[in-house]
Amino acid sequence: MMSKKWKDECGVFGVWNDHDASRLTYLGLYALQHRGQESAGIVSLENVGEKGVHFNHKGLGLVADVFQESDLDTLKGRVAIGHVRYSTTGSNLLSNAQPLTATLRRTQIAIAHNGNIVNNKQIREMLSNEGAIFQGTTDTEVLLHMLAKKQNMKFIDALKSSVSTLEGAYSLLLMTRKKLIAIRDPHGFRPLVLGSKINTRGEKAWVLSSETCAFDLIGAKFEREIEPGEMFWIDHTGETHSTRYTENKAHAKCIFEHVYFSRPDSVVFGQSVYESRKNFGRELARESKVSADVVIPVPDSGVPAALGYSQQSGIPFELGIIRNHYVGRTFIEPKQSIRSFGVKVKLNPQSAILNGKRVIVIDDSLVRGTTSKKIISLIRHAGATEVHLKIAAPPTTGPCYYGVDTPHKSELIAATKSIEEIREFVGADSLSYLTESGMFKAMNSSNEVYCAACFNGKYPTPLFGLDEE
Ligand code: SF4
Repeated sequence: MMSKKWKDECGVFGVWNDHDASRLTYLGLYALQHRGQESAGIVSLENVGEKGVHFNHKGLGLVADVFQESDLDTLKGRVAIGHVRYSTTGSNLLSNAQPLTATLRRTQIAIAHNGNIVNNKQIREMLSNEGAIFQGTTDTEVLLHMLAKKQNMKFIDALKSSVSTLEGAYSLLLMTRKKLIAIRDPHGFRPLVLGSKINTRGEKAWVLSSETCAFDLIGAKFEREIEPGEMFWIDHTGETHSTRYTENKAHAKCIFEHVYFSRPDSVVFGQSVYESRKNFGRELARESKVSADVVIPVPDSGVPAALGYSQQSGIPFELGIIRNHYVGRTFIEPKQSIRSFGVKVKLNPQSAILNGKRVIVIDDSLVRGTTSKKIISLIRHAGATEVHLKIAAPPTTGPCYYGVDTPHKSELIAATKSIEEIREFVGADSLSYLTESGMFKAMNSSNEVYCAACFNGKYPTPLFGLDEE
């Protein structure tokens, strides 16, 4: 059974100045696996400086499948960047797996990108007309070609000028022979954080990551976010630099990172994801009260919101659905059809908790509604007398163009049906969503610094025709 949730985007991780750079990057990617499961890759750098050499290993699949001990041994050097990918732009081919690498006249370069460049098609067309030959279909490759055309400029200047022409979402890590560079787009759609640790020589090592949960795993300390519109780099002497490469633009941090994408043990955009999700549940309880005997989450992503709902409403929290954690991405179904087998193999409602009860079931978001329909049917089958579905986010009414693989608008149930029609479709006794104002109240933040376009249709950038495709 494939996940019916929106697909995560990508994760990036980098290390500067540790003799175990590639192993630390491997562990960082392991912690970021939820952000992309289709490919993984690491590029390392040995001999920082003019004689620097890149080593590269990438493949399709999960981090644990792509890297063996012997692969990590070949990734030599004290600097490395890595990437886990879910294909947002470009299909799932090895040629699209990242970090992307190229040899320019004066340096080797590796790039790892989280996000989606919305004017990719226009830039690609322009570059192709000028003779560029693309190796893959990913949007990130346009940056390599733009850099290749500016080889007479200093590298940092060429980079500033190239990224200034990109529109959309990009949290980037780049590695040359001499530098490790981090760039976040001026809207700050995707997270990117800087951390540090002390290496075995007692020196400071720098780490960069999509999420802070990766720092916890390798014992690194969170330093700060890379700011929207900031270019940060470490040069061959170990000195750090930071500059703004473009004018300030309105921030548009992805609220869905807090709703669903990021790990609950990460601090994203300066706030604990676990706390945000609990607060979404608390606010949901304030907004939509209903009499019930028990609150249960759809595991695992609905757990913090259900806890918050329970604490606010005083209705007991129970794990009424048990998740099988050992289910792979696909499995062989029985020849004789078993009703809702696909969901049942993963989620098993417990009669001992649900029988004879009025149940509130909490999920983090609702996309097509088909999985919720099956879950509600299983909860009723386990003996629940009432089932009230509550969603700890507003209705998702539009696709994302900023690095999240979402279904077409016509497949989003909330884009085509009213809440009452959705309730009827999923077979719940009642259905309520968190309001948009409730979501921002729960975040204790103004909606002005966030993107919530998949909920309200207010896309923070021009879409360059993507909405017509
Ligand atoms: S459209 Fe939705 S998923 Fe995409 S960046 Fe905006 S809030 Fe995030």
